[in-house]
Amino acid sequence: MSIADNIKNLKIETGAGVTLLAVSKTKPAADLQQAYDAGQRLFGENTVQEMVEKYEQLPKDIQWHLIGHLQTNKVKYIAAFVTMIQSVDSLKLLHEINKHAEKAGRVIDCLLQIYIADEETKFGLGFDEAIELLRSEEFAMFKNIRIRGLMGIATNTDNQKQIKEEYYELKTFFDGVKQSYFRKVDSFDTLSMGMSADYKLAIEQGSNMIRVGSTIFGNRIIKHWKNN
Ligand SMILES: *Cc1c(COP(=O)(O)O)cnc(C)c1O
Repeated sequence: MSIADNIKNLKIETGAGVTLLAVSKTKPAADLQQAYDAGQRLFGENTVQEMVEKYEQLPKDIQWHLIGHLQTNKVKYIAAFVTMIQSVDSLKLLHEINKHAEKAGRVIDCLLQIYIADEETKFGLGFDEAIELLRSEEFAMFKNIRIRGLMGIATNTDNQKQIKEEYYELKTFFDGVKQSYFRKVDSFDTLSMGMSADYKLAIEQGSNMIRVGSTIFGNRIIKHWKNN
């Protein structure tokens, strides 16, 4: 099936309450253009370099989401155009995003990436660390970032029960954080969980943004050595 068909089918399957982020890492700009022509506007990349290259080549109304680990010294390359940084995993990184967003005269939407997997190679804040960050004085000072919600990556396993539990825990945590820190903040509304192999499970557990790569664009030949 074509990229356009894959997107159409995913949208029918997932329904209106779930936002589809097309994860285009390692794929050529021509593939993204096909998705764009099918109406897709949200794209996810996991490296700054690829995102910048594709941003330069493709239509300017694309909304770019960074989903891979972000080094503080690279924030400056995307601050002027990135729509959302889903992989915020430290206060130091938030500080840097806030600084460059201010320079660019923008407010950048962010998700806190929460560590839910049973794998040491994955990035993310632990539940306690996320709470600590949200309670910190420094966080309260940031004017140029807006926390839109949470993101999580489940363990890469065939064990459905384990994945379901990890997503359930993240949804429960999301509800708690919303209640305690963002009760009156309507823009805290995004729970990004679910990829090609497990998006159905993730939606069942309350995801409202799925990040789908291979189901749209086909398998990736180049396997990235980190962040999948
Ligand atoms: C690669 C990637 C995805 C998409 O993976 P697929 O299995 O191809 O759907 C989703 N989220 C993150 C963080 C990724 O790095």
